[in-house]
Amino acid sequence: MISVEAALEIILSEIKPLGMERINILSSLGRVLGEDIFASTDNPPWDNSAMDGYALRAIDTKTASKDKPITLKVIEDLPAGYTAKKTIKKGEAIRIMTGAPMPRGADAVLMVEETEAVVSGQRSVARNQKSEVKIFREARLGDNIRKAGEDFRKGDLVLTKGVSIRPAEIGMLAAVGKPIVYVHQRPKVAVLSTGDELVEIDETPTDGKIRNSNSYAIAAQVRACGAIPVQLGIARDNKKNLREKLEAGLTADCIVSSGGVSVGDFDFVKDVLKEMGSEMRFWKVAMKPGKPLAFGVIGGKPAFGLPGNPISSMVAFEQFAMPAILKMMGKKDVFKRVFYALLTKPIKKKTGRVHFVRGVLEQKNGKFYATPLEGQGSGILSSMVKANCLIVLPEDISDADKDSKVKVQMLGQSFLYQDRHGY
Ligand code: AMP
Ligand code: MG
Repeated sequence: MISVEAALEIILSEIKPLGMERINILSSLGRVLGEDIFASTDNPPWDNSAMDGYALRAIDTKTASKDKPITLKVIEDLPAGYTAKKTIKKGEAIRIMTGAPMPRGADAVLMVEETEAVVSGQRSVARNQKSEVKIFREARLGDNIRKAGEDFRKGDLVLTKGVSIRPAEIGMLAAVGKPIVYVHQRPKVAVLSTGDELVEIDETPTDGKIRNSNSYAIAAQVRACGAIPVQLGIARDNKKNLREKLEAGLTADCIVSSGGVSVGDFDFVKDVLKEMGSEMRFWKVAMKPGKPLAFGVIGGKPAFGLPGNPISSMVAFEQFAMPAILKMMGKKDVFKRVFYALLTKPIKKKTGRVHFVRGVLEQKNGKFYATPLEGQGSGILSSMVKANCLIVLPEDISDADKDSKVKVQMLGQSFLYQDRHGY
């Protein structure tokens, strides 16, 4: 048997990122950035007001209070998007809107709530009128000024190659004036189910048959990675049919099959992959569920033979195929994020294999708790549906006690979902 880590290390050593393409940033959600992005200007480009209020000289507001306001002359009205024509001198202020560049001579902004506009001796909030303003508070130097370059400076590395593009990254690309960006191509992943017992999902299974659920669950996992599933359908348990289907899969960038990798009489996947010229590795991986795993590279394309049981295939996909696909997509960080939680119920286990236990992770009073679910058989989809996490118990431990600290991987939340065509 080989450890999960060792198998993953071998797999990743064989995987290379796909080539790049240039796309509109609006279609880039969930893709992986293929270039470092540098800022071509400072952001913000100039000092500007963080508030609607009055730009003024802090020194002119000394001793101002609610009871003893100081009156300044308002010499200009400055909306966002314009620069002030005038320079503020002693005893003067400019009415300023959020985002407007700081006028010359001003060194602070007081927010409008701390002032009262006065026009011809009357109270008024009307704009565009020569007026005065009462100041109810002392301003300190630099109050409510956003400094030029406080977000980023010209030449700064603002986004790094290999990161997943989220809404924030798209905002940054827009802010630095990049409407088009290099991303890695999305891998096409051929998905194949194997087994004489499988019928299509719109059929009613009779005579020992079952519905082919794996093709759908795995295709969804492929999409959850941001890659493109290509359905190869069902291969029957004979070498000829298997080979035909797997060869059809070579038009994709990667193949993922399920079933037919055990030691049963009709488990031909590893033999056929070998015949197709791959340096095939076949392992018993020290994990539960999902022990048998085949992996090889055919004509430069990675091929995964996952076990057939629905949970085994999904768990093996998460541990092995997902990091590989993310690496193909150019992602730097391909490992699943791990959390720590306290077990609410003991779990029985023998040493020797990593157990991936379907569970529910919850937060109570600021602490994370993981509860293992009933029904941990490798064919039990209903507990997978209830689960939001996998509790990961390492190879070398036996029973895990209630209240012990355990590692947890989140299920289905760590990826971005994206339609095939972006949006
Ligand atoms: P195998 O690894 O081919 O021996 O399959 C192990 C178990 O998983 C058997 O009970 C199969 O019926 C089941 N199984 C295999 N492929 C699928 C599939 N595509 N959908 C649902 N169950 C499957
Ligand atoms: Mg089978």
